[in-house]
Amino acid sequence: MIKITLATSNPHKLEEINSINQNSDIVFEVIKGEFNPVENGKTFEENAAIKAKEAAKIVKNYCLADDSGLCVDSLEGRPGIYSSRYALTPKERIEKLLGEMRGLSFDDRSAHFTCSMVLVDMEGNILHTQTGRVFGFIDDKPKGKNGFGYDPVFYLSEFDKTMAELDEAEKNKISHRSNALRPMLKWIEETLLTP
Ligand code: IMP
Repeated sequence: MIKITLATSNPHKLEEINSINQNSDIVFEVIKGEFNPVENGKTFEENAAIKAKEAAKIVKNYCLADDSGLCVDSLEGRPGIYSSRYALTPKERIEKLLGEMRGLSFDDRSAHFTCSMVLVDMEGNILHTQTGRVFGFIDDKPKGKNGFGYDPVFYLSEFDKTMAELDEAEKNKISHRSNALRPMLKWIEETLLTP
């Protein structure tokens, strides 16, 4: 069995990870109390590494951090690492995005969510990095009530639904986070758990 601290104090992230990490010998826990390191990296990977290393300083344990966001091709990858800071509220962020994309045809609305995960040891050395993506298109108006962030405008052709119209289990099967997490769990099992 191995215990890994998630570099977040957000219990929802623990729930999401646990719903994917079932029947394994990896036990995740979150940092207790406030955890808000300055995310001043230039890439998702750099920001995840900053969080993982900061967490390791506090808990002296294996730590896993993730950093994610929405990248729109016609906006040269924006909002990208600034996804959570693109405007003040989630509704305003969506409005700003749709405003910037007004008039663009379906073919010019391609986008992806990216998630980078970084695992460090108790000294903060990077052990493994994994990136997952999910590809779709930015719809011209929000649809659906599930999920969070940009989910209501992220359209998936294979479902003919936005991410916010998928239920949690469906989203967890295809999300950028699960596409990063599954190979990360496999790596941990093969490298840190196998005698
Ligand atoms: P975080 O790094 O997971 O905190 O994500 C940063 C920001 O990216 C969030 O505040 C959202 O705006 C956006 N984002 C990340 N993942 C998702 C997702 O699964 N759905 C919708 N928006 C997301």
